[in-house]
Amino acid sequence: MNILVINAGSSSLKYQLFNMKDESVCAKGRVERIGMETAILIHEPAGKAEVHEVSEILEHTTAIRKVLEKLVHPVEGVLASIKEIDAVGHRVVHGGESFKSSVLVDANVKQEIKRLFDLAPLHNPAHMLGIMAVDANMPGVPQAVVFDTAFHQTMPAPAYLYPVPMALYRKHKVRRYGFHGTSHKYVSERAATFLGRPLEELKLVTCHIGNGASCAAVQGGQSVDTSMGMTPLEGLMMGTRSGDLDPAIVPYVMGKEDLTLGEVSSMLNKHSGLQAISGISSDMREIVEALESGDKNAQLAFNMYEYRLRKYIGAYAAAMNGVDAIVFTAGVGENSELLRKTICEGLTFLGVEFDEAANRTGRGLDRRISKVGSRVEVLVIPTNEEWMIARDTYALVIGNRA
Ligand code: ADP
Repeated sequence: MNILVINAGSSSLKYQLFNMKDESVCAKGRVERIGMETAILIHEPAGKAEVHEVSEILEHTTAIRKVLEKLVHPVEGVLASIKEIDAVGHRVVHGGESFKSSVLVDANVKQEIKRLFDLAPLHNPAHMLGIMAVDANMPGVPQAVVFDTAFHQTMPAPAYLYPVPMALYRKHKVRRYGFHGTSHKYVSERAATFLGRPLEELKLVTCHIGNGASCAAVQGGQSVDTSMGMTPLEGLMMGTRSGDLDPAIVPYVMGKEDLTLGEVSSMLNKHSGLQAISGISSDMREIVEALESGDKNAQLAFNMYEYRLRKYIGAYAAAMNGVDAIVFTAGVGENSELLRKTICEGLTFLGVEFDEAANRTGRGLDRRISKVGSRVEVLVIPTNEEWMIARDTYALVIGNRA
């Protein structure tokens, strides 16, 4: 069975085609600048040369059509016919309280995703365009949706409620939802396999640290708390997002700087975090390069980033009354030796014994960077959200046929 995984954004679309028989990726790629005359399609068929093609792609239906044409292209393709695609799985950022797991798309599901536009105005409408574009190009092919929020729906009320008037929750669903759930779930499962212990017995702190970043407390395989909140702005310091701050800063700054709500929101989401403190970049690679050559602002940005993450790890150990393993994943978590080292060296009180040599080797592999015998294990596990989407889609389609 072949499954096409789609992550549709407002002006971009990423795809991966999986062969579920051997769990291989047959092709992957992306379309960028949808809506423009100079949209670009980058197609990477397995074992063949990468293809770059610039053309006018004004909306998602054309984008998907171009992707399908590439997948069945006599030279650049990997399939004989579109009929060989058995199902499509979509990443959807917000599932609200309605979706506690992945589901097959039907009219009700579409309606519910639309109802959630309010909660994720930048993401869910784009995902819906992706679903409609697949409907248009591949009528009758089953589609599944996999939500970033679903894994965190197991959080108990004390973790997901904010201490504000309950009417806000009842009327407007103001609560913590959490994001990156597909990744936190994936690395939790892989961590249990790596450690050779049942997931049900483990207390894990998973750190998904990329451009966006979040931590989760995962107890017995279930998310019991996570750092992103009602929106992805809360929690850790990120590339361009502030993470946690005193909410009173918002009206104060609006008054002092004569800013609108939209302007403050844009400042906190797009012009804060590593970017704002370093004055250099939102990219951890550039921050590390700069601090190594003595840049004080880059050093401060790194220190704040590390400190805030380490506090969350400590908080989640307390939330679960213990922690068996800390897991690093995503761009920074998988690649920044310095961040992992600094964090681990500040967690000796928990029983972390850091293995300096292991931290420097094994990039791309699941691995342990704590010493054998360390009371708390520290792992690096490359995430694979696309594979999780393919796996859920496969299970739903097979289940539906049975
Ligand atoms: P996204 O959240 O967009 O999916 P990723 O998980 O791909 O992001 O992470 C992207 C980030 O990973 C980059 O901004 C960069 O800071 C970081 N990164 C990638 N490689 C390295 C590296 N070698 N050292 C430090 N940071 C890295």
